[in-house]
Amino acid sequence: MIPITVFAGRKVAVFGLGKSGLLSAGALIKGGAEVIVYDDNETMRSEAASAGLTVENLHEADWSAIAALVLAPGVPLTHPTPHWTVQLAHKAEVEVIGDIELFCRERVKAGAQCPLIAITGTNGKSTTTALTAHLVEAAGRDAQMGGNIGVPVLALEPFAANRVYVLEVSSYQIDLAPSLRATVGILLNVTEDHLDRHGTMENYAALKTLLPASVEKGGTAVVAVDDRWTRSGADRIERAGRNVVRVSVEGPLRDGYYAEGTRIMQASGGKAHAVAQLAGIGSLRGQHNAQNAACAIAACVAIGIDLQAIQKGLVSFPGLAHRMQQVGRKGNVLYVNDSKATNADSAAKALGSFHDIFWIAGGKPKTGGIVSLAEFFPRIRKAYLIGEAAEDFARTLDGKVEYEIVGVMSAAVDAATRDAEASGLKEPVVLLSPACASFDQYPNFEVRGKAFTDLVRALPGLVPA
Ligand code: ADP
Repeated sequence: MIPITVFAGRKVAVFGLGKSGLLSAGALIKGGAEVIVYDDNETMRSEAASAGLTVENLHEADWSAIAALVLAPGVPLTHPTPHWTVQLAHKAEVEVIGDIELFCRERVKAGAQCPLIAITGTNGKSTTTALTAHLVEAAGRDAQMGGNIGVPVLALEPFAANRVYVLEVSSYQIDLAPSLRATVGILLNVTEDHLDRHGTMENYAALKTLLPASVEKGGTAVVAVDDRWTRSGADRIERAGRNVVRVSVEGPLRDGYYAEGTRIMQASGGKAHAVAQLAGIGSLRGQHNAQNAACAIAACVAIGIDLQAIQKGLVSFPGLAHRMQQVGRKGNVLYVNDSKATNADSAAKALGSFHDIFWIAGGKPKTGGIVSLAEFFPRIRKAYLIGEAAEDFARTLDGKVEYEIVGVMSAAVDAATRDAEASGLKEPVVLLSPACASFDQYPNFEVRGKAFTDLVRALPGLVPA
């Protein structure tokens, strides 16, 4: 745990008693603050009380004595309406912040020697965060990885020499971290998402852009400029006098990093040379992963990691579970778990990364179904449809792609294995990329992905990846 001493001797209210809220309370207490906690949920309150925290009804608290309100990232700050604690805090002119803000203030005080790489974007955050941390480790430095990726930032090891912090930051967390000044701030992409929380696309893009825009003095903003929001963001950050490194997977750049086939090139004044090679790295297939990799590479170069160590790290990156995760091979059939693809956009990334696909899809349908995936249909040898979406997907595929309504995962794995083995193709891929939520048959996408990998690993003759 990282003790937070910047509020020592002052009173702080923590609202939202999930994992990160409890840690914030603990870290503040350890650092010498007086902490009161609250949650709308009674069970959470009594759990906090039995853990020894001071639960105080913030409806009735004396807000004039409170220095800050620390809010869990899921609690609405602005949209659709500010949470009642936020309204009370605003009325009393008490600042509202999150755990990443606590970390950043403490870093200024006690950890300035530790580089901070902060990563945001609509898609690819977790992959880029995990990859960056992996590259840092491969170079022999200690990477502390946390934030939105699952480990609350304050649960990480305290500041120490040779330590690099790699944080995945969601737009919610940016909103609650006004002094987030990273050594390297990565913005991957901005596409429509989470507008429920941020109102308009302009607001959402502006918020995301804040992360690279506010890198510390001498720091680097790494911005993948393949959409109009990030493109204009990069220009604005540069005009404001920051060091911007642009990344593209759509075409060459005069300055920055870009993908040329599977090579990552670095260009300076129009002269380019290859800095990394992604060919043959199963965990980094596809153009979207080239974007993630190029950004991670740019960040590592910015903190002084050499290219040899980076290439070594790229090759050994295991990838993240449920995101185009290679489960294993049976003969020449490759099995890939992309259970995280809960919508057509995500499934498009996987379908675009393989040829000769035996596709397991379906689940709880999303609006639009798989109509938008038509350009990938020629790659699909056959589809195996499961869950509630099966009939609807079948209608879309009818006459274009061979399909079978198999209903459940076990039948899908069996049928796809049978057909892939009999196909005579060079590298057939059995791909679970459902383009649907999982809730009709599973509690979440992780359990769905595990069901698939368990079935695959139990196949006779399977060689795990
Ligand atoms: P996040 O943490 O932002 O949700 P992940 O790294 O978990 O992103 O990836 C989730 C899914 O998003 C992947 O399975 C893939 O389909 C898609 N994806 C990953 N990286 C990118 C990218 N750079 N651009 C677009 N889509 C991506």
